[in-house]
Amino acid sequence: MAAFTANSSDKRLNATLSLEAPVTSVRLISAERARMLSSMGIHSVRDLLSHYPRRYIDLSSVQSTQSAMHGQMCSVEGIIKDIKLKRPKPNLPIVEITLTDEFGFMMITAFRQPWLAKQLSAGMRVVVAGLVRFEYGAKRMANPYIEVLSESSSDSKSVGSIIPVHPATEKLSAANMRRIISNALEMTEGIYDPFPMEFRAKYGYMSRGRAIKNIHFPNTMSDMKAARARLTYDELLLLELYLMSNASMRAVGKKPFAHVYPPDTLDEQPVGECVLKLKENLPFALTQDQKQALHEIAKVMAAPKCANHMVLGDVGTGKTVLCAFAFASAKDNGCQSMFMVPTEVLCEQHAKTFASLFEGTGFKFEVLSGSTPDDKRKQIIQGFASGQIDGLIGTHALLEDDVVPHKLSLAVIDEQQRFGVEQRAKLLSKTSLCDEDLICDALYLTATPIPRSLALAIYGNLSLSYLHQKPHDSIKRTTQVFSKGERLSAYEAAGEQLEAGRQVYVVCPLIGKSTKERDALSKETRNAEGQDDEENQGLIISIEDEGDFKDDDVAAAESLCDMLSKTTFSGYEVALLHGRMRPSDKHDIMEKFRKGKIDVLVSTTVIEVGVDVPNASVMIIEDADRFGLSQLHQLRGRVGRGEHEGFVYLISASASDKAIERLSAMEKTDDGFELAEFDLSLRREGDILGNRQSGMSALKLVNIIRDKDLIEAARSDAASILDKDPFLKSEEYRLLGYEMHTVYKDELSVMGG
Ligand code: ADP
Ligand code: MG
Repeated sequence: MAAFTANSSDKRLNATLSLEAPVTSVRLISAERARMLSSMGIHSVRDLLSHYPRRYIDLSSVQSTQSAMHGQMCSVEGIIKDIKLKRPKPNLPIVEITLTDEFGFMMITAFRQPWLAKQLSAGMRVVVAGLVRFEYGAKRMANPYIEVLSESSSDSKSVGSIIPVHPATEKLSAANMRRIISNALEMTEGIYDPFPMEFRAKYGYMSRGRAIKNIHFPNTMSDMKAARARLTYDELLLLELYLMSNASMRAVGKKPFAHVYPPDTLDEQPVGECVLKLKENLPFALTQDQKQALHEIAKVMAAPKCANHMVLGDVGTGKTVLCAFAFASAKDNGCQSMFMVPTEVLCEQHAKTFASLFEGTGFKFEVLSGSTPDDKRKQIIQGFASGQIDGLIGTHALLEDDVVPHKLSLAVIDEQQRFGVEQRAKLLSKTSLCDEDLICDALYLTATPIPRSLALAIYGNLSLSYLHQKPHDSIKRTTQVFSKGERLSAYEAAGEQLEAGRQVYVVCPLIGKSTKERDALSKETRNAEGQDDEENQGLIISIEDEGDFKDDDVAAAESLCDMLSKTTFSGYEVALLHGRMRPSDKHDIMEKFRKGKIDVLVSTTVIEVGVDVPNASVMIIEDADRFGLSQLHQLRGRVGRGEHEGFVYLISASASDKAIERLSAMEKTDDGFELAEFDLSLRREGDILGNRQSGMSALKLVNIIRDKDLIEAARSDAASILDKDPFLKSEEYRLLGYEMHTVYKDELSVMGG
């Protein structure tokens, strides 16, 4: 019996360890296949097993050619009666398939996928999924997803009733993927579950082994969903554990500051003189958001714990004044603060703001940047080391080794994402130069619109404050969405503004017609639209569906400019601007537009960057559904900033409800954060940040918006685990520690952990 137990636990241990084995250890994976997998980022068995299906075909909900309805997304099963490759234009291969079943037939058209003619042949049993249309006397599907069920119509069905469809390539088909993943599953049969029973029970999750099996080969869609929920939670818990243990690393064995600065004193009686004087100096009343943020900052600074707090707010929401209060509080506690900003220009801007805010308060600060003269620099460094200077504002020049504080209790980092991990760490470690046991509070500022749930996922270790309101609500702007059929109204409205002496932007997705450009764009668009919606379970939707490629459909700046100058706006000066023009020409055109010599500027998105023409009041964006919401928001920021009311017209090329709904979010809100949140809700995490943010590459299933609650839950679970066992060394959490170190080993080695 004892021998049996040892044996079986050996087996389980080996199965668990084999997750880290190279894919070549899996049956049917040759060196050649391993290379293909590697190009998809799949190197280990673990990678392979987390190569999850992007959709499932539920054969129990398949339609016949008769029951499939016009205008609906359907899966239809049938037999290929006939298949032809046609080339109506040299670069437009079309594969035409006649699909039959006992009730009738359906025509399938696949554009620009000539290889299908080789992969498919008459007699095969297939399932196709896509939008059904009744046109030219027959039911049709354009660019559907196609899955071969059996090579000949007489084969009995070899698959279960739910077919997983894994992301595949031309050379490594979905069917191949299914086979090798099934082999990998065999190899890891019996793997340990690193998650303590306590959590599995709390959420009613299945074991890890079962979850991995069920996400790849579920018997029912509800098994698949349960598996997915469990594995999504795994991803989040590991991420939060990783982020939090990193953060606590900074504080291990150190003594934090507790700034005497209780939250409620701000409106009543501030404890410190400097805070009090600063408050008197304020040339404006704080917005509600600023007050709230100030209380939150005060609270974390007052706590006898090392603060890691982030303030998130669009440009102009007034983050700087909050820092001034934090600085003042540090001074009232007999300590110093540092403020690191990414550029010298920002340095000067902040210095100017601080100069007026701190006038007469007794707060002494200096600016240190790369261009500070040597003797001045020496003086500043001395003053900071002796404690005569209360605060330093500077660029990364602050990080120089000879910049040593007297007693530093607060470090602020503006636009923190513009600094590297090491740079941020170096600033925070300045405190220990004066006293090894001490650790300062950290405050981060960012104007990047990161919704709360995403921020929690990326910065699990931070507390957060949001500023949504802008003190000067100067923007007078309306946004309207039009379908392509209604676009004339937009041009008429623009015409009225031109008559009133205003200027107009027309933005197009393309410069001119080039297939390459169009293809590149449609790829981007697919990402932006996030059509790969995991909620559409049961019914499969092909994300490759790009409509039927009518070449003239996408607005191109060149031809539109030509057309507008000859017809619609023939009485006005119309000019073209795009990224392929020579820089001097671009500059010329912009100058003329700025001076009002050009009335209508037809351009691509090049105008996004740094254009400010107050007289321009209208922006028409063609094929707006091809852009991300954040990008549209940036674009429309060009109008409605001056004295004139701005009008934004978004023309949607797509009539789909989803595209219109997405765009109409632009009508409803002017808040970049809300838009970012809405945009994110349509995508999966990997698509959003890629590998840019550490940790995020390990998130495959999480959708930041949809999984909001799960993120909060994982965060609090991680916190309670680390409270009990900070190094994950106990019997109970050892496996979890192993799992976290394995998944995040690259990130941990970067941090020197
Ligand atoms: P951010 O750093 O968030 O982009 P700033 O802190 O630079 O914004 O503030 C933008 C401008 O708004 C500054 O000129 C600042 O003085 C001003 N400001 C900040 N808060 C208020 C307020 N409550 N009322 C009026 N003006 C404000
Ligand atoms: Mg700022």
